[in-house]
Amino acid sequence: MTQHFAVFGFPIAHSLSPRIHSAFAKQQGIAIHYTAIEATQENFSEALNKFHAIGARGANITLPHKQTAFALCDKTSERAQLAAAVNTLIRTDTGWDGDNTDGAGLIHDLTERHRIDLRGRRTLLVGAGGAARGVAPALLAAGIGEMYVVNRSPEKADALVDAMGQPGRVHSRYWDDLKELGSFDFIINATSAGLGTSGLNLPFSLVTSRTLAVDLSYSEAAIEFTSWAKAAGAETVLDGLGMLVEQAAIAFSIWHGVRPETDAIYAELRREIVGLHNGD
Ligand code: NDP
Repeated sequence: MTQHFAVFGFPIAHSLSPRIHSAFAKQQGIAIHYTAIEATQENFSEALNKFHAIGARGANITLPHKQTAFALCDKTSERAQLAAAVNTLIRTDTGWDGDNTDGAGLIHDLTERHRIDLRGRRTLLVGAGGAARGVAPALLAAGIGEMYVVNRSPEKADALVDAMGQPGRVHSRYWDDLKELGSFDFIINATSAGLGTSGLNLPFSLVTSRTLAVDLSYSEAAIEFTSWAKAAGAETVLDGLGMLVEQAAIAFSIWHGVRPETDAIYAELRREIVGLHNGD
């Protein structure tokens, strides 16, 4: 029997999740129907209820609904609670349970696919929205060194730092103080600035020839930050495509009890993104 899944977001037309999950299901011989549902802030909760009513098995949640979805869940995992955001919903008889696979997806991509040792790295997290909240606890658990959090709205950086509960290790700083923070071994762009036109204007002084720079965005949205990191001389510069595929694989294994192989779909999507940037 075909099982129904969906990703909810706004906008959602360009989401790669239906394609990734359909590829995983085909590979595992599982019949699923996975669709993208556009929902605004106003109708998200109603759209989710309707999806539950048709017997759907699960859902992924993306921008801007991760915090709202967290609040709608009956039960949430510990990592979702630390993030106060969910990206994966599991259907129950009465509603939804929630999890957050973003952080584990990022760590899996960096340490397994790219074989990068994160331990002890002095880390700068730029951004304090849903994605930053999702990855911060996983980065700390992966053994990074001190973490500094900078966000355009400073109160959100403070809230993220407070939620981590490690005052000696995790610090918030003002954007205007970036020039005084020295250099970092690991810089993560968890903002959605690449989707707009205003740019981040980060100083080159943050980067050394040993810096790992990772943008959680991918495709066109990652061009500004990854170009900046390369120009500043970072050792390794990555986008968020691998994280996207890995967070999906973890969600898939939560729903279906089996972990899919991710290299084939990652390579396929990577080829397309490279082609896009070459104007193919
Ligand atoms: P949110 O809307 O929750 O947060 C957006 C963040 O970006 C906030 O910190 C916001 O700051 C900041 N921001 C937006 N515009 C600017 C700007 N012009 N200058 C500086 N800061 C800015 O989004 P998410 O956290 O959910 O997503 C962030 C990014 O991560 C997106 O591009 C998304 O595609 C990507 N992502 C990738 C995933 C993957 O699997 N690869 C998974 C999840 C997200 P403020 O608080 O001041 O508004």
